[in-house]
Amino acid sequence: MLTSTKSILEKAYRQNYAVGHFNINNMEILQGIVQAAENLRSPIILATSEGALEYAGINFLYNLALTASELSKVPIALHLDHGKDMENIRKCIQLGYSSVMIDASHEEFEKNIKLTKQVVQLAHRKGISVEAELGTIGGKEDLVHSRGIIYTNPAKAQEFVERTGCDFLAIAIGTSHGAYKFSGSAKLKIELLKQIKAKTKIPLVLHGASGVPQSIVNLAQKYGAKLSGVKGVPDSQIKLAVKNGINKINTDTDLRIAFDAGVRKAVKEHPEDFDPRHILFPARALIQQVVEQRIKVFGSAGKV
Ligand SMILES: [Zn+2]
Repeated sequence: MLTSTKSILEKAYRQNYAVGHFNINNMEILQGIVQAAENLRSPIILATSEGALEYAGINFLYNLALTASELSKVPIALHLDHGKDMENIRKCIQLGYSSVMIDASHEEFEKNIKLTKQVVQLAHRKGISVEAELGTIGGKEDLVHSRGIIYTNPAKAQEFVERTGCDFLAIAIGTSHGAYKFSGSAKLKIELLKQIKAKTKIPLVLHGASGVPQSIVNLAQKYGAKLSGVKGVPDSQIKLAVKNGINKINTDTDLRIAFDAGVRKAVKEHPEDFDPRHILFPARALIQQVVEQRIKVFGSAGKV
């Protein structure tokens, strides 16, 4: 059975660590993530973007996650990432996702509140929790893009949480989506995070938080990937964010680069081998390795 995202994150909030949200698009990615969580006895949040639902189909991904949760010993939640389309959000709630995100952060404050409230009402009726977003996270990934960062205002965040009743809040403190997060120094606004935490008193979420680890980037590049200038959030900044109130950390880019590196290595080293299992096995193993590394940084290892 899938576990409630709210129960996973409330424990993280009380004990001051973060739980990884990892995006899934197919079985191998999911298996790599879940194996990592089991190895480190960590709860985990699997997430599907609207792009993933388009690619694989909502029933397919839901049932993959459900199967994983039934076979696994660690708590597994399933979350809709960046829900923008009300139909998608409705479907996820009906199917029994653990939580949904309504992303109306591109709208005016009042409109964001109105849309978020609607989703909160729908979801809470079914016992499903809701993540909302206030402020704008920069960068581009999947179907989500924005030109710049608009930092979250702490007073507005307090008002937003009170008026919408959302369960978790994604905030903008300097991260960006995608693989090119910083052109200058890679620093988050930790003071701002502290102020938001003091005012909101609910689990806070960090998007655009991939680390883009150099070892995986190097591996992908060794086998032909072109990734010059990629830059993620350093582990030290993530640790600081967790220490000061982030309880859910979204990671997608790292998984993409790991998968890409694994596939490239396999096809380049064994051009005569066309067995998909041999091509995807190293990708799945690299995903597992990257996720284990993330879980250790987030502090959720051994929390099961
Ligand atoms: Zn995001």
